[in-house]
Amino acid sequence: MREAPQITRQEPVGTITPINTLLLLLRVSAPPREQIFLLHARQKGSRRGRAEILETGVLSANPNRHLSRPPCPAIAAAMNAPPKTFHVKSFGCQMNVYDGDRMGELMTAQGLTATDDQFAADLVILNTCHIRERATEKVYSDIGRIRKESGKLGGNPMIAVAGCVAQAEGAEIVRRAKVDVVVGPQAYHNLPDLVARASRGEAALDTDMPVDMKFGHLPARRRVPPSAFLTVQEGCDKFCTYCVVPYTRGAEVSRPFAAIVDEAKALVDAGAKEITLLGQNVNAWDDEGRGLHDLIAELDRIEGLARIRYTTSHPNDMADGLIAAHRDIEKLMPFLHLPVQSGSDRILKAMNRSHSRGGYLRLLERVREARPDIALSGDFIVGFPGETEADFAETLSLVDAVGYAQAYSFKYSPRPGTPAATMPDQIAPEVMDDRLQRLQAALNRDQSAFNASSVGKRCAVLLERKGKLEGQLIGKSPWLQSVHLVGDAAIGDLVEVEIVEAGANSVMGERVAPI
Ligand code: SAM
Ligand code: SF4
Repeated sequence: MREAPQITRQEPVGTITPINTLLLLLRVSAPPREQIFLLHARQKGSRRGRAEILETGVLSANPNRHLSRPPCPAIAAAMNAPPKTFHVKSFGCQMNVYDGDRMGELMTAQGLTATDDQFAADLVILNTCHIRERATEKVYSDIGRIRKESGKLGGNPMIAVAGCVAQAEGAEIVRRAKVDVVVGPQAYHNLPDLVARASRGEAALDTDMPVDMKFGHLPARRRVPPSAFLTVQEGCDKFCTYCVVPYTRGAEVSRPFAAIVDEAKALVDAGAKEITLLGQNVNAWDDEGRGLHDLIAELDRIEGLARIRYTTSHPNDMADGLIAAHRDIEKLMPFLHLPVQSGSDRILKAMNRSHSRGGYLRLLERVREARPDIALSGDFIVGFPGETEADFAETLSLVDAVGYAQAYSFKYSPRPGTPAATMPDQIAPEVMDDRLQRLQAALNRDQSAFNASSVGKRCAVLLERKGKLEGQLIGKSPWLQSVHLVGDAAIGDLVEVEIVEAGANSVMGERVAPI
């Protein structure tokens, strides 16, 4: 069986009964070369892609043969009409979640309707992550699955690949997966135009990184969850030897102070009680000498905004002012995600992390002095090229020294084009598996201990969603623990809770009184 043809033009050669069953000549492009196919199709409605193909066959293999008659409007409309519904699926980091929300807002502003059902949408936007190989491969398997499942429902959705895989692979995705639109993370404000171009059968690829940031071209924020994301900084100039971000997201750029404050106010007007400021290195944010702590101090003045968070930070950008903000600004939550990657100075050097184990630990001491109850989080990579058992033991001892409230840990994944991918002494998969298991056991132990230590504490919980059980609500404590409770309250409420029980990944709370 050959691959399903990509239809670029179609033309009826006659009508047979019933009235909506048509015999079509389709000109299709399918490797290895363009061919003319005879198709017998039945139109199943006015939705794009709802023409059901009943039979196909090669009529002529002459790629230069031009069809003379104009396309049948009904079938042209069915196959090529612009999409009416869309679904955005975001993979990876919180910055992608933010970008996915903004793409959704863009498409809504164009008159399209969002649907939760990815297989019923006319347009599926896959907002992708390139950080590890598995994340990239997932995109290709998802494209196949969407085509298959949508096809069963009679659909033929337009597929747009956005995000870091789009940036890194560009036209290769069109070649490999025959998607309709490819758009990089700095160009997604052009998505409506790209979708229109794809609807006309034109090439629709944009992986530019314009100097003029996309944010000024996006529609205003209208409907947001109680805890909302706000991207303030993008890109990275640090070039850790394992990481693709500097290549896929580009150079470190900060959004202007005033634009961020305006967006924060709009988020609060739209219902947000908590804002998490986002950036690949969010604490590197600056605007003419003002640092992240100045921005947080300004957001602190917004009435109706109860909580401020920020992520992800780099140890080298942890300024004194930001540490002091944890002491001075009540709305700034007692939580810090500060990736370290390894506890071995030798590996940190090979990673080009530009911080040492000792420097990192001293930094955390100063943060704890400023805010003794702060919950700490980090990122770790095991199996970086050349990592010995002794290097790994240093990572375990750093974990013991810090006592993280939660953390993310990954097996090293070689990324094409990064210096580490071609370093000698790549670590065997089974060694990586073993180290990851041991690291995660230590991190899980510490997370459980942190959760257990909060039993008996009273704190405010921002309710974010319903739980699976009848009447159950789930929210976040100031220390970013998931708190489950049953009670008479609504999503978006900030409620006073006593933590009564602790699990490995969440805690149970009982409502005390409204704040
Ligand atoms: N900028 C932050 C920092 O350096 O502290 C981290 C941002 S990065 C997008 C998120 C995490 O992905 C990193 O902290 C690292 O642990 C992980 N990561 C990045 N590249 C990786 C790779 N090639 N293999 C495995 N994990 C990787
Ligand atoms: Fe990647 Fe973070 Fe290193 Fe930048 S600082 S290269 S985003 S891991």
